[in-house]
Amino acid sequence: MESTKVKERIFLSSPHMSDEGYEMQYIKEAFDTNWIAPLGENVNGFERELAEKVGSKAAAALSSGTAAIHLALKAAGVGEGDIVFCPTLTFSATANPIIYQNAIPVFIDSDYETWNMSPKALEEAFEKYPEVKAVLVVHLYGLSADMDKIMEICKKHNVAVIEDAAESLGTYYKGKHTGTFGDYGVFSFNGNKIITTSGGGMLVSNNEERIAKARFWATQSRDQARHYQHSELGFNYRMSNVVAGIGRGQLKVLNQRVMKKNYIFEFYKRELGELEGVKFMPSNEWNEPNYWLSSMTLTSKVRPIDIFEALEAENIESRPVWKPMHMQPFFEKYEFVGTDVSEKLFENGVCLPSDTKMTDNDLERVCEIIKGLWLKK
Ligand SMILES: *Cc1c(COP(=O)(O)O)cnc(C)c1O
Repeated sequence: MESTKVKERIFLSSPHMSDEGYEMQYIKEAFDTNWIAPLGENVNGFERELAEKVGSKAAAALSSGTAAIHLALKAAGVGEGDIVFCPTLTFSATANPIIYQNAIPVFIDSDYETWNMSPKALEEAFEKYPEVKAVLVVHLYGLSADMDKIMEICKKHNVAVIEDAAESLGTYYKGKHTGTFGDYGVFSFNGNKIITTSGGGMLVSNNEERIAKARFWATQSRDQARHYQHSELGFNYRMSNVVAGIGRGQLKVLNQRVMKKNYIFEFYKRELGELEGVKFMPSNEWNEPNYWLSSMTLTSKVRPIDIFEALEAENIESRPVWKPMHMQPFFEKYEFVGTDVSEKLFENGVCLPSDTKMTDNDLERVCEIIKGLWLKK
């Protein structure tokens, strides 16, 4: 008999704490020593451990990935009226801090080979705006941008590079971790990312002096003095010691999470890859993705909206690929360089549920619903 009970929700990507309870051990330590805030051993430890994991010299634990992007721009010297190249296909959190700094974004198109910043469009942008101050590169859905090509172009123009690796912790490009190619790298531990601290971010760099400066800005720019002395504008952007404890525990299961995300991607590819008009996100031999979200595009009679609706009816979460920034009401007044690649990826893209707690049963359920749409058309 068909159950009338609401089916258990399958999420796109939800928090997944370790089975071993690592996070609670670190939180308990913070409570036992009353290092709830500010800062403390978990913050120092999380910075050390994350820097080591990605192969960067220094890291600053912050309240969000957005805060990390903001301080990276500031550290790179981006200020009023400066131009910053930014991928158009991304989450708005990449672009917003450019505006916080009163700088001007120029949006760059993606290519189909990587879904990330097109080196060709980037070169075109340099021709139009040679005075550009910094380039923001994003590694979407755990895929990596083509960093050799992008770094070569940026070095030629001697411009600062910031990598928004918020979605790509655990992703490597030619064996090197994403977020460590440019001058600054940014990670996020928001609730839906591959590991989470409930909310938080990290700024990494090989420039220890700039990271120390970022920590200073993040704690209200308090000068070395007994009294409260400020010679610079400050921010309240530091991560708390309790939150950092969650991060230290989560870092221990990052490899496990990447393996499960990879398993989910392979499962979908096997089950859905042969459907008419389905193309999965690109694979490149130089890229080891973390497969944060399994994504695909459709050029078939079945449209993305059919999938979103059919899955939602079964209490399963899925969503479109990011809507490009140059199509957003808030950002459309800024320049865009490229063709229609990111628009097409948005129009045809589907992010499938990629929650690491999903069972084979859940994956089969999702695939059956989707395959059913092709039978109907
Ligand atoms: C999540 C995300 C961010 C922002 O990180 P928060 O920690 O939520 O501030 C920035 N850029 C991209 C591409 C993201 O996916």
